[in-house]
Amino acid sequence: MISIFGKRREKETEAKDLSPEAAGKEVADILDELEEVGEAQDVEPEEEPTEEEKGAVMTCSGCKAEIPVPIMRQNLYVCPKCGKHLPVSAQRRVRSLTDPGTFRKLKYRVPFVNPLDYPEYEEKISKLQAKTGLDEGVLAGIGEIDGRRALICVMGSEFLMGSMGIAVGEKITNAFEVADKCKLPIIVFTASGGARMQEGILSLMQMAKTSAAVEKFSEHGGLYISCLTHPTTGGVSASFAMLADITLAEPGALIGFAGPRVIEQTIGQTLPEGFQRAEYLEQHGYVDQIVERSEMKQVISQILKLHDRKRR
Ligand SMILES: [Zn+2]
Repeated sequence: MISIFGKRREKETEAKDLSPEAAGKEVADILDELEEVGEAQDVEPEEEPTEEEKGAVMTCSGCKAEIPVPIMRQNLYVCPKCGKHLPVSAQRRVRSLTDPGTFRKLKYRVPFVNPLDYPEYEEKISKLQAKTGLDEGVLAGIGEIDGRRALICVMGSEFLMGSMGIAVGEKITNAFEVADKCKLPIIVFTASGGARMQEGILSLMQMAKTSAAVEKFSEHGGLYISCLTHPTTGGVSASFAMLADITLAEPGALIGFAGPRVIEQTIGQTLPEGFQRAEYLEQHGYVDQIVERSEMKQVISQILKLHDRKRR
């Protein structure tokens, strides 16, 4: 853990010493280094469903209807019967947003650490990496949305509930730094159960670190769009998720710090209907617009177009 923070400080000192020419070269290097996305980690076009998948059904957690898996996939995991937005993997999300073949993952890797020697933590992470094709709880890269380049981060609820530990905090911070250097807008899709309990207090420190990165990016005039998806809670909601210039949310998403049950128990009162849901937050000014998953690309594309500096 100490080595990570040590490395980070070294990296920042290096960055400060760069001359404008060297800084320009660094941006070019970052773009050159963007990893080609391929093999198991790809966000290439979705494969045809297997025979087994074709016959499979999944139960909607909203209306309990049994929907064939291929239809759910086609519908980006939005129930065709009741419109409930079910969890979608980070890779599918990226595919649904970016122009085909344009997304390249950032090559930033954070070495695994287990600061509390939490039992079986490393095995758990290795298994999830193999299963999800993600190296941690967030997928970050540069891609194009209707021809406009942007840095895109998507948190994966399939990876330990998108909980924020050292690696997620580092990757988000790095993404903001890269967007700043490359003068790109940044779009972050949040989905998180909160802090990574296996990393204790170091998880909470990621809130300050990511918030500082957002602030620096913002001071330099960068555009930050955040899209809150179900659920966005805990340390993520209390840091970068809520610091965007424009905050979008998916219908019905649970957004808050502590869960409703915990709050009710603490204050000894019943909470209002729909409390902590995206619609409630939109009415109360925390969310700018609720956007259906099927329209997300179009809405983000319009925002990017409006803020495209080259076109002014
Ligand atoms: Zn449904």
